[in-house]
Amino acid sequence: MEKGALRGDKPKESCGIFGVYAPGKDVARLTYYGLYALQHRGQESAGIAVGNGQRILLHKGMGLVAEVFRRRDLEELQGFVAIGHVRYSTTGASSPLNAQPLVFRYAGGMLGLAHNGNLTNVAELRSRLFSTGSVFQSTTDSEVIVNLIARYGQSDLVGALMKCMIDLKGAYSLVILTEKRLMAVRDPFAFRPLCLGELPGGGYVVASESCALDTVGARWLRDVNPGEIVIIDEGGLTSLQGAISPRRAHCIFEYIYFARPDSTMDGFNVNRVRREMGRVLAQEYPVRADLVIPVPDSGTAAARGYAEAAGIPFEEGLMKNRYIGRTFIQPSQDLRDLGVRLKLNPIREVLAGKRVVMVDDSLVRGTTSSKLVAMMRDCGVAEVHLCLASPPVIRSCYYGIDTSDEAELIAAQKPPEEIRRLINADGLYYLSIEGLLSVFGDKRHNFCTACFTGDYPVPVDRTGKFSFEP
Ligand code: SF4
Repeated sequence: MEKGALRGDKPKESCGIFGVYAPGKDVARLTYYGLYALQHRGQESAGIAVGNGQRILLHKGMGLVAEVFRRRDLEELQGFVAIGHVRYSTTGASSPLNAQPLVFRYAGGMLGLAHNGNLTNVAELRSRLFSTGSVFQSTTDSEVIVNLIARYGQSDLVGALMKCMIDLKGAYSLVILTEKRLMAVRDPFAFRPLCLGELPGGGYVVASESCALDTVGARWLRDVNPGEIVIIDEGGLTSLQGAISPRRAHCIFEYIYFARPDSTMDGFNVNRVRREMGRVLAQEYPVRADLVIPVPDSGTAAARGYAEAAGIPFEEGLMKNRYIGRTFIQPSQDLRDLGVRLKLNPIREVLAGKRVVMVDDSLVRGTTSSKLVAMMRDCGVAEVHLCLASPPVIRSCYYGIDTSDEAELIAAQKPPEEIRRLINADGLYYLSIEGLLSVFGDKRHNFCTACFTGDYPVPVDRTGKFSFEP
């Protein structure tokens, strides 16, 4: 069974990070709930580190948040400042050693760090650190950041972070804690999201997505700015520009697929953006059809938008099984055709005899789409048109999203007409890059679109994507 078939044939999420500074509150439990809200961003490992004024306590492990933490684990994490992390491995193997937060001792005391994003110059930094005596215990690029902080941070942590930001290239949203302080850092291009909120009765929260602020009852204050360092301690919240930002390059795929629809990031609500993408798609490709159905869940908002703009009824035509988790036993070779059907089952009564527009967010490898189209035909649809609320994915991501190697990206290998024939659809339509950007109005230049255009905001080595292993 190929891995992608049950994972929805989608790019894999990167990581989710969360931090809270709230003396007098149960910061471990707040972080636990925050990570729960960010679970969609990573399901391989989870961890929480808590500062109590004297030291940092840590609990982390492999699995979902609910699997990693028992009540007793949370009760032992007593303190007033905490960070947390959920991970999907984009660099470094899926192993307990790579689980975050990373916690270490250095000349300045104890430090914990959780990272979302990928560095693009990790091989160079790693070999530089190696040659001058650094040791590594994990294979994550996050440990490179830790080593740099330790090297620069003999007395002044903020100064060390600013020096690090000169060295670091690529994508990094970070939450950092000391025994008594919380810090949040966003790279100068602000590839990955990070926002800031305030708890009722005092205290601050930082999180990858605003849905995590809502979950813990925090009020959204603002997004962390590109290149900004936010420091939260007993003196309150202070902020400084750690590095100059040449431009913004927020990951546009966050809006297409990764982020939760109830999150608002850098001024745009994800659900609203997806709906608008569907509307633009309907204007670009007004298919004559009887029904619009989504591929749940990531295609749902765009399908609604398409249906509204096209004046075609919206229906739920595919039922999703929501209980297929990480520990699901994969079908054996002779049962592999069950793969997609275990996750999505068509509603024959809705579909039979109808001309159907099926809306999905993106097409990455194409394996799931051909099975979905086959299931539609089994149900007796008259026509099935696959409409995609994103342009063709033709390049890999080097900034923290696993979009597969280019050789596996079907749109990098084949033109749309060939893909249409391959998946046996009556029509295959992609949202244009112009159409996608039009959704963001005058902020259209604030986004990274490299996986659709090959226009990488930070230079990447396309030959050595994961070549930093020691
Ligand atoms: Fe996002 Fe694509 Fe840019 Fe990666 S390359 S940051 S997935 S828009």
